[in-house]
Amino acid sequence: HQSKPPFESDPPVKVVVRIRPTNDNGIEGDRTVKKVSSDTLCVGDRQFTFDSVFDSNTNQEDIFQSVGVPLVKNALDGYNTSILSYGQSGSGKTYTMWGPPSAMFEEPSPQSHKGIVPRIFQMLFSELDREQQASDGKQFNYQCRCSFLEIYNEQIGDLLDPTQRNLEMKDDSKNALYIENLTEEYVTSYDDVTQILIKGLSSRKVGATSLNSKSSRSHIIFTFVIESWCKGISSKGFSSSKSSRISLIDLAGQDRNKIEDAGKQCLKEIKNVKKSLSQLGHLVDVLTKETLSGKAEEISNRTSCLTRLLQESLGGNAKLSLICSISPDNKNTGETLRTLRFGQRVR
Ligand code: ADP
Ligand code: MG
Repeated sequence: HQSKPPFESDPPVKVVVRIRPTNDNGIEGDRTVKKVSSDTLCVGDRQFTFDSVFDSNTNQEDIFQSVGVPLVKNALDGYNTSILSYGQSGSGKTYTMWGPPSAMFEEPSPQSHKGIVPRIFQMLFSELDREQQASDGKQFNYQCRCSFLEIYNEQIGDLLDPTQRNLEMKDDSKNALYIENLTEEYVTSYDDVTQILIKGLSSRKVGATSLNSKSSRSHIIFTFVIESWCKGISSKGFSSSKSSRISLIDLAGQDRNKIEDAGKQCLKEIKNVKKSLSQLGHLVDVLTKETLSGKAEEISNRTSCLTRLLQESLGGNAKLSLICSISPDNKNTGETLRTLRFGQRVR
């Protein structure tokens, strides 16, 4: 029962860029990557414009205000919403999304390292509780559930039950995709969500090998579904319901890997990451056009797990934010340009 029209002032796809603090000791003035205005940056003599550009002085609260607050509002209005965290390994994708697990317990202060995801759920539950309290007589009620999965080498693993390593995607009777046996947890508070996030993020880490961090080659997706009802307004028992899905995705590193350094297994993983990220670019392209033109277009290439899963969250009446993380360091210019071009393509 989606009551809202497909567009509002908020665009269906929003792309922001975050420049992480530097890792090298170069002189600031020598850097090729420079923010030139609130929505534009330059890499050498090339200029790129996005919805917003955040430089290395940006804190987690700034990103939350720009991307997280509108997401919570859209989700409460019944839109499906997603955030994709994209960039080369080490550029700050994971930091931006979740922040260090210990920071999830810090008070929400601008200086806190708490990532955008815990901030989103802090706001979401406070809004839901407020609405419930304010709805005396209207009987506003809601139910939330979530799951947390990893796509590693085209296999879906359950981060809430790490013994489940190769789950299957299936179509239900209504032709909607679901993942068989994936753990779903019902949650009623911010504390419930933080516990699940911490559990899932630590499962991702367990598999990390010493040299080649596995986390740089896996996509992880936290999915949160809100169903809400408003009933008993009229004597006829009028009621309305809304359902929306929030998908929070920390992508594998977009890295041009040195093939000769890769072992056989690793090479296969890298190829799978490349393929899924290039399909992702295409998917977002198609879905954006679909949203804008209002008509469905068949997605031809359905082979990658990521593409298939995201198709469910991004299609139709949906809002997507892409956060492109980049490094300011000159040695990373090649990867930085590739990340920015991906962002431009999606926009
Ligand atoms: P990625 O997930 O893209 O591989 P990470 O998020 O793991 O990168 O970041 C690499 C390192 O840099 C981590 O130690 C992280 O805490 C740190 N880092 C990244 N971005 C920032 C930032 N904006 N401020 C402070 N530390 C950061
Ligand atoms: Mg990471």
